[in-house]
Amino acid sequence: MNDTFTIVNPARFSEVVGQVELQNVADVDRVIESAARAYPDWSRTSVNERVERLKAAAGALTAALAELTTLFVRENGKPLREAERDIRRSIELMDLIAEELPRWWTPELYDAQQPVWARRRSRGVTAVISPWNSPVLLSLKRLIPALATGNTVIVKPATYCPLTVMECIRMMNDHFPAGVIHVVTGSGATVGERLAMDSRIRAIAFTGSTETGRRIMELASRNLKRVFLELGGNDPAIVLHDAELDPSAVARMTNAILRAAGQVCVAIKRIYVHESRYDELVEKLSASFDNIAVGDGLNPAATMGPLNNRPQFELVSGLIDRCRENDMTVVSKGKPIDPALWNRGYFILPSIILGARFEDEIVSCEQFGPVVPILKFTNEDEAITAANQAEFGLRASVWTGNPVHAAAIADRLEAGAVFHNNHGIFQDLHLEFPGIKQSGVGRESRVAGLDHYADIYGFAE
Ligand code: NAD
Repeated sequence: MNDTFTIVNPARFSEVVGQVELQNVADVDRVIESAARAYPDWSRTSVNERVERLKAAAGALTAALAELTTLFVRENGKPLREAERDIRRSIELMDLIAEELPRWWTPELYDAQQPVWARRRSRGVTAVISPWNSPVLLSLKRLIPALATGNTVIVKPATYCPLTVMECIRMMNDHFPAGVIHVVTGSGATVGERLAMDSRIRAIAFTGSTETGRRIMELASRNLKRVFLELGGNDPAIVLHDAELDPSAVARMTNAILRAAGQVCVAIKRIYVHESRYDELVEKLSASFDNIAVGDGLNPAATMGPLNNRPQFELVSGLIDRCRENDMTVVSKGKPIDPALWNRGYFILPSIILGARFEDEIVSCEQFGPVVPILKFTNEDEAITAANQAEFGLRASVWTGNPVHAAAIADRLEAGAVFHNNHGIFQDLHLEFPGIKQSGVGRESRVAGLDHYADIYGFAE
């Protein structure tokens, strides 16, 4: 009998939301065996069959949206609206892939002189390992294209927040043959490493920290698996002298910092502002942070929830304490919705750090919490150099009234994608621009991630 891990509600620790098994290596081996056995039949199913099954699974998740959202908030902490959006986007992705797959799968003629056809082929058993901050979207975003392209898939969600992912997969399994989709639970060191090193697994899609990504790449290299890595970030926002800091821009910036209480890989994690606009930005962002209502995500009045787990709460609290000890100013804003609950959940008020230097810890680390340093610069080169100093290269943004200048600065920023007067999110679910430097390994995708999970091979006539 394996040990179990208890998942508590981060907004009230006394509430147990569920338990998962901490599986061992033999358990994982059995699951890999089952996925490998199911692969030949599944890989030979027609595109139409896969499309029909995906549509049916999307319908089942849609019907259960309200209950899935409640479970997600209880184990994760994010507010109802944000939790629902993650699940809804996962369902939208299923529908989008169901629509695109037949066209995408159709062979393409490359060369008319000697006809060479580019044909698609699945790879085999694919592992998906996901983090606790947005586990539903970040698991399903990898699972769905992998499944649609004919692979069998094993998902390993993070132990702090696995329940909604498991429930979604349980529902999806009613619409797919046995052995095609699996979940394994347990520690990264045991379960995750086994997936990364097993030669029966042909591809691995990992989303999580850079440190774990490095380890997975090392293990995967032993049998040259395909790896797709989406890793950590320390995204800079550069606010130029001519930025339009109207209420809508400030609201977009606030959302890019505080969504999911800052526990977002592509959140703005440091702001460089031209000295002429520093006071104005600090004042406007502080006023905007002050409108944030912090509390249990199930309370519809909450616009920000707690941090997800104790280690993350302690990490962010420690960073803020050290800013105070090192004579920086911590401007904490926002309001607790229910002061009686405050010390019974992992709550932190949204905070701005003033007086940090470019090399300080709060600027150079990935804080992953509702706290952001604002730093002054005098010339753009200085800001660009500072932005590029991070080991990460996920996203960046430029805030200016001049779009041509924004594009020129974007060319000089080391990031997988750069946004103008916004930050982090592509509305179109097709688009994916993975991080560069130590933020990821992967190619751009323009067809809902499908390109990451199937091989193209040439068939010459
Ligand atoms: P993590 O790296 O600690 O864990 C992620 C997953 O990997 C979990 O399921 C964990 O159990 C597993 N894992 C841990 N050690 C492992 C190992 N040695 N071998 C195999 N698997 C292992 O990350 P986290 O704390 O869950 O998530 C936060 C991090 O994820 C942040 O750095 C954040 O920036 C990053 N993240 C990146 C993206 C992105 O798209 N770039 C999205 C969300 C989160």
